[in-house]
Amino acid sequence: MKILHNVINGKLEAVQNDRESTERFRVSNPASGELVTEFSSSSPEAIETAVSDALKAFETWSRTTCKARAHILFNFRALCLNKYKEELIALIMVENGKHKTDATASLLKGLETVEYALSPNLSSGYIQEVSTGITCQDRRDPVGVLVSICPFNFPAMVPMWTVPIAIACGNCVIIKPSEKVPFTITRMVEIMLEAGLPSGVVSVIHGGRSVVSRLITHPGVSAVTFVGSTPVAEIVYNTAVSSGKRAICLGGAKNHLVVMPDADFDQSATDILNSFAGSAGQRCMAASVLVLCGKGSDKVLEPLIAKAKAVKPGQTGSGEIGPVIDQTAVDRITRYIDNSESKHGACVLVDGRTWTNRKSNRAGFWVGPTIIQHPMDSADPALVDEIFGPVISVIKVDKLQDAITRINESQFGNAACIYTTCGQAADFFTRSVHVGMMGVNVGVPVPREPFSFGGTKRSKFGIGDITGDGLVEFCTIRRKITTKWGAPRGGDFVSRNFTG
Ligand code: NAD
Repeated sequence: MKILHNVINGKLEAVQNDRESTERFRVSNPASGELVTEFSSSSPEAIETAVSDALKAFETWSRTTCKARAHILFNFRALCLNKYKEELIALIMVENGKHKTDATASLLKGLETVEYALSPNLSSGYIQEVSTGITCQDRRDPVGVLVSICPFNFPAMVPMWTVPIAIACGNCVIIKPSEKVPFTITRMVEIMLEAGLPSGVVSVIHGGRSVVSRLITHPGVSAVTFVGSTPVAEIVYNTAVSSGKRAICLGGAKNHLVVMPDADFDQSATDILNSFAGSAGQRCMAASVLVLCGKGSDKVLEPLIAKAKAVKPGQTGSGEIGPVIDQTAVDRITRYIDNSESKHGACVLVDGRTWTNRKSNRAGFWVGPTIIQHPMDSADPALVDEIFGPVISVIKVDKLQDAITRINESQFGNAACIYTTCGQAADFFTRSVHVGMMGVNVGVPVPREPFSFGGTKRSKFGIGDITGDGLVEFCTIRRKITTKWGAPRGGDFVSRNFTG
C-alpha cells in the first residue's frame, strides 16, 4: 500500500491509520478497483501545528516581494510541465480514474491559474489624488491563513483554482484534499517546496469531516474556500461565516443544454457528448439535461446516439471514457437510470449500465454514456437531482421561453448552454437564464482567467467567485490610506536638505 503524508511546516509526515478511528478511508484505483491505501483522519494536534506554522510563515511571506513570490510560482509551473508532468498525470489517472487526455488537460488547466497568478499587477491596487494635496491609496493586503477544501473530481485542477492566486497575494494556505484522491495534490505541494516555497506557506492535512470542522472554526484561520456538493457547501459556508471567516463555497449543479432547430446538429452532438460524458460526467460543468426546443431540434439525437454508442471504456484517451470514482457512484447512477425506466416511463436510448461490473464482469467502477428520453411533464428526480455520472436526460419543449423557465426553476445555477446559429436567440438566452456561466455552442463554458469561476443559487454560497479576479478580491483585504503632506516649511525642501 502507498503511504500517504501530510505536509506540515515543509516536512512530510505519514498520516495515521488508526483502526479504532471512526473516520477511516480507503483509496481505490477506480479503473481496477484495487486498494491503493487506507488512512484515518489527521489528529487535532497535527491541525494545531499546521495552523500555527502557517501563521508563523505568514509573518514573513506576506512581506515577501511579489517578484520573489512569482519567481517560486514560475519554478513550480516549470517543474510541473517538464520534470514531473508524466508523474502527476499518472497519479491523477490512478486515484481519480481519468483517462490520459482528461488527466493531462486537467493538469494544464490547473496550471493556467499559476500563469495568471504570475501577473505583476495581480493585486496592485491603485492610488489617486482625491483633493488638492491629498491622495487616497487602495492597497490589497493578504487576509492571512486560508483553508482550501477540495472535492474528488479534479485532484490537481480544483486545488490549483485557489492556491497559486492566494499565495501570490501573500496568503498562506492549508489544503484539505478529498479523502478519495489525496495523492496528487500532496505531490504538487512537495514540488512547490522543491521550487523554493518557504515552509508553512502551503500545508496539506488529510482527513474527513472532523478535520474540516476544526479547520473552519479555528481562530487562526481567516478565510475558507470550499468546492464540493451542495449540502456540504451550505454547512461549511454557514459554519465558517458564523465563526467570523470570509467564505466562498461552490456546490453542485444541474446544467441544461438547449438545442434550437437552427443548430449545427453534427457539431452540437460532438459537443453535447463531451459535455455530459467527458470526465465520466463527474464535472460540475457537465450537462445533465438536454432540452430539445421546437420542431426539428430532435434531429440532433441521431448523431448524438451514434457518437455515444461508439465510445469505449478505457484510460488511453480519445474515443474512450474512464471509470467513475467508486462503487457508491456506480450504484447511485444506475439507481437513477433504473428508476427512470421502471417508475417514470422513460426510454433508455443509450444504456451505460452494460459497462458496470454487474453486467460486464469488468473490474473497477464503470458506467457508460447513457441517454434517457423522458415523457412530457415527467416528475422524475433524474431531471432535478445532481446524478454526477455520464447520464443525460432528454426533454422536449415548444418555445425557448419554456426552456429558460425550466432552467430558472432549478435549485442550481452553475452553467447552461444554447446551440444555435441565431445571434438573437443566443442573446435572449444569455440575458434570461439565472446561472453563473453560460455557453453559446460551448457545452462546458469554463471561463479562463482573468474571468472567474462560479455559479449562482445553490451552486454557490458566498459573494464573489473562485479563480481569476474574483479570487484576488476574496483573498485580499482592501486597505485605504489617505495621505496629506503639508506645504514645505522655510523654503525649498530639496535645496535645504539635499544640496551642498
Ligand atoms: P463532497 O461534498 O462529498 O466533498 C467535498 C469535500 O468536503 C471533501 O474534501 C470532503 O472530505 C468534505 N466533506 C464531506 N462531507 C463533509 C461534511 N459533512 N462536513 C465537512 N466536510 C465534508 O463532494 P465530492 O463528492 O468530493 O465532489 C463532487 C461534488 O462537488 C459534486 O456535487 C460537484 O458538482 C461538486 N463540484 C462543484 C464544483 C463547482 O465549481 N461548483 C467543482 C467541482 C465539484
